[in-house]
Amino acid sequence: MPAHDVLIIGAGLAGQRAALAAADAGASVAILSKVHPVRSHSVAAAGGINAALNAEDTWESHAFDTVKGSDYLGDQDAIEIMCREAPDEILWLEHAGVTFHRNDTGHLGTRAFGGASQARTYYVADITGQAILHVLYEQLMKHHETVDRYEEWFTTTLLQDDAGNCVGCVARDIRTGVLEVFNAKSVILASGGAGQAFKPTTNALICTGDGIAQAYRIGAPLMDMEMIQYHPTTLAENGFLITEGARGEGAHLYNALGERFMEKYAPNKLELASRDVVSRAEQTEINEGRGFPDGTIALDITKVPRKRTLEALREIVNIGKDFAGVDITREPIHIKPGMHYIMGGVKTDFDGQTPIPGLYAAGEVACVSVHGGNRLGANSLLDTLIFGRRSGEHAAMRARGTAMPKAPGSVLTDAQGEIDEIVNRPTGARRISEIKNELGETMNRYVAVYRDAEGLAIAHEIVRRLKEEAPSAAIDDKGTVFNQDVLAAIELGYMLDVAEAIVVAAQERRESRGAQFRTDFPERNDADWLHHITVSRNGADVPALGTAPVTITQWQPQARTY
Ligand SMILES: Cc1cc2nc3c(=O)[nH]c(=O)nc-3n(C[C@H](O)[C@H](O)[C@H](O)COP(=O)(O)OP(=O)(O)OC[C@H]3O[C@@H](n4cnc5c(N)ncnc54)[C@H](O)[C@@H]3O)c2cc1C
Repeated sequence: MPAHDVLIIGAGLAGQRAALAAADAGASVAILSKVHPVRSHSVAAAGGINAALNAEDTWESHAFDTVKGSDYLGDQDAIEIMCREAPDEILWLEHAGVTFHRNDTGHLGTRAFGGASQARTYYVADITGQAILHVLYEQLMKHHETVDRYEEWFTTTLLQDDAGNCVGCVARDIRTGVLEVFNAKSVILASGGAGQAFKPTTNALICTGDGIAQAYRIGAPLMDMEMIQYHPTTLAENGFLITEGARGEGAHLYNALGERFMEKYAPNKLELASRDVVSRAEQTEINEGRGFPDGTIALDITKVPRKRTLEALREIVNIGKDFAGVDITREPIHIKPGMHYIMGGVKTDFDGQTPIPGLYAAGEVACVSVHGGNRLGANSLLDTLIFGRRSGEHAAMRARGTAMPKAPGSVLTDAQGEIDEIVNRPTGARRISEIKNELGETMNRYVAVYRDAEGLAIAHEIVRRLKEEAPSAAIDDKGTVFNQDVLAAIELGYMLDVAEAIVVAAQERRESRGAQFRTDFPERNDADWLHHITVSRNGADVPALGTAPVTITQWQPQARTY
């Protein structure tokens, strides 16, 4: 039975950064991932990572932009930490081997990103996540004596002792189907986002909200769940992302009348207003009949010099050709707002601690909350690294004063029983893929850029019905080797829990703030709603709503214009 000081579930940027920090702090570490670590979804991150590192920039300016971007729902103490620590983190990455772009003077070069008052996004062409992830993985190899890697292991359940401490997890070796109990003094969830609860999404198939649901099921509160980011530039057909880096490099948005419509909505920042503002503007143009017949808007990247596009945006050149049949260096590409990121997640403090002793969360699974109502582009990679590191350090420190727990043997029998139940389901009921599609399409219809009470009530009713149907969805593969059917059945349950938490929080917030725009409550209402909404399960399969205060340090809420 593996036992470690610190167990990390998830090996994207947050998980790997946490593992390195915990190992550096002297802990024995296990890092576990349902896919090979460098296939974690962080590999898809394109445009870059923010830091106020240039001499003319300041962390205060970065923090204010982030607070404003969050529509004043982000906790300012956490945002201050993230922005203060950002420059050192970029330098650490650079020294570890990340080949950030350099400008003509040989210094680290930046590009502009949305909602930022300075060009402070550091990047590696449009493969920034891949570049960082591979360097962290190399560093992990160097720690092979203290970091055990469990690659292609799927965590099914978090474990607690009688006192309520989180003491490990049960995981399935995907290659063999064998279940194992992992004991740990501290557990860090770094299992990423939940984009697959929507269809389409920019997120990979593996982003199924596992960690959010697992924490929720053992009583950890979720926070800011209503805040779902729709990215302004995704391909209508399949949700593929065209990075904000394109607009950062100078691309324009046009409606079908040829109007550069952002002049109306954000006269100062235009295409580089924050994402919620640009997505709403596009959706308004489409809804009011000024979009193209396929329900899209045109993104014109030909404004960027061709040589620069081929050098700095080469991945989206390929995406344009392969998935839309468009040469973006020569003609506009059609895009629309698409589900991209979840600002909410497992509520943590700024050392990653959740209210459950021994359980930490970092990265997209967590809600610190540094993004509040709307995340600024290129602040997520930063969030994963800063709070991944801080969680790793704190979890290692906690482990030093804790005895190694031992989970009761019965947990394995229970977990095996749950798998057997899935494998032995009689055929005839709905397929998992059908339920998943209905869930995704429902969320994308009713819980998207614009929402109202009627649509949210329909979404809630559908999600509840799907929750009843999911436990009888039969699977085809009854085997043990790489049985993705079993995993899909478990993931479906996670997505439904996450979706329900999103819907009830969106129903509860009767105002418009950040990514939550309620057409029936179109104004921001600080008097009644300047607080976080929390969602807890607390034993019953019915979400219980609560609130948490927003921390304001130096920036009082103002009207938000770009
Ligand atoms: C297309 C795209 C482009 C983006 N570009 C940018 C950008 O340029 N800048 C920016 O700041 N942000 C960007 N983002 C957002 C950013 O990439 C993500 O928020 C971030 O990488 C999430 O990292 P993470 O470590 O939290 O999770 P992930 O990288 O998703 O890793 C999750 C890990 O958890 C593991 N896991 C999940 N469930 C289980 C389970 N049940 N058992 C075991 N392991 C499990 C997975 O295998 C994986 O290792 C982008 C997002 C997308 C979709």
